[in-house]
Amino acid sequence: MAFINDHYLKLAAGYLFPEIARRVTAFADANPSLKGRIIRCGIGDVTEPLPPAAIAAMHAGVDELASRETFRGYGPATGYDFVREAIAQGDFRERGIAIEADEIFLSDGSKPDASAFIEILAAGSPAEGGNRIAVCDPVYPVYVDNNVMAGNTGAALAGGGYEGLVYLPGTPENGFVPEPPAQPVDVAYLCYPNNPTGAVITRAQLTRWVEWALANDALICYDAAYEAYVRDPSLPRSIYEIPGADRCAVEFRSFSKNGGFTGVRAGYTVVPKAVEGRTSSGERVPLHRLWMRRWATCSNGVSWPVQRAVAALYSPEGRAQMAELINFYMENAAILRQACAAQGLRVWGGEHAPYVWVACPEGLGSWETFDTLLTRAQLVVTPGAGFGRHGEGFFRISAFNSRANVIEAGKRLSTLSAVLA
Ligand SMILES: *Cc1c(COP(=O)(O)O)cnc(C)c1O
Repeated sequence: MAFINDHYLKLAAGYLFPEIARRVTAFADANPSLKGRIIRCGIGDVTEPLPPAAIAAMHAGVDELASRETFRGYGPATGYDFVREAIAQGDFRERGIAIEADEIFLSDGSKPDASAFIEILAAGSPAEGGNRIAVCDPVYPVYVDNNVMAGNTGAALAGGGYEGLVYLPGTPENGFVPEPPAQPVDVAYLCYPNNPTGAVITRAQLTRWVEWALANDALICYDAAYEAYVRDPSLPRSIYEIPGADRCAVEFRSFSKNGGFTGVRAGYTVVPKAVEGRTSSGERVPLHRLWMRRWATCSNGVSWPVQRAVAALYSPEGRAQMAELINFYMENAAILRQACAAQGLRVWGGEHAPYVWVACPEGLGSWETFDTLLTRAQLVVTPGAGFGRHGEGFFRISAFNSRANVIEAGKRLSTLSAVLA
């Protein structure tokens, strides 16, 4: 009989979204007349059609596969040069950041990338030669769960979280941007603009993180999935805007939230050649070499029509259409933010991110608030507790929705105090 990876059994009961889905289905089954009224502002999935430039490029890519002259088979595992070049130019060099095309690794999304990246790092607990890993709390659960599955943590703790991970609390006091840890850490995950809190990191704060990483020989895994939502030009959109980050950070980028590619699947990871890790015997090795090897061995890359679509996002039309999509979701965020603030609730985010983070009404926990909003207003939000211990007492509202749904959700939030009474 095959032995399994025991670490999977450490995963705390149920990923957040299946539990939300279970409660929503149970409510709908018990209340068929209210089923049609349910508005889902829970999961962060886009709702609007793709930019026409991407659609046209995908159609063209499919047609190219239909004729012998333009047919494409296996491509380079890390993406065609013209795509990597368009990314390096459009997202970095044009903005004064020195990133080369061969430091861009095109993929089927940044959730898979953030998950796979730990394959090139040592596994196990620090005592077993693994890394001391820090995450923010609340956190995008993907970073944590992957480290659990890889055996980099201990058991699940009673009040949430896992033994062996360093949790950095995000609180209203620090604006949900923790300072670098005082204790030794080898790998730290950061995500800004943040999911779930919608918080942004300032240039000064991110500089402190980069300086910390350089001083402590640590690696920062920077998730910039929401960089396109940054409105204020003084806020960093990439960690490479900070001097020295090209020696201590990798960056995960996604086309899911800017181009609406959640169902198309594309993203990329930036691994600068100067970022190094250490062998167990102390020798320094560029991570670029390992990540390259990992791609060549484990993947055959992204489909041709999708690569055509990615390149099209960098055309002038593609960029304008993406900007329009982002504006649309940001108007949604403003409506939701105002509706909550008008109720006297404390709100964060929604200004440079498609998420509004709200303090639960006095005396209610985050799952209680979730259940109340579901049963009394048929509004589905995400309970903060699902993102970690320090998410308790808050809930997240996603701005990814149709305008009609957002306006209606805003109205129902406006009656929140009555609903909760
Ligand atoms: C949505 C999201 C992503 C994107 O994941 P894809 O696999 O590219 O769709 C990455 N990180 C965070 C924090 C996200 O919320």
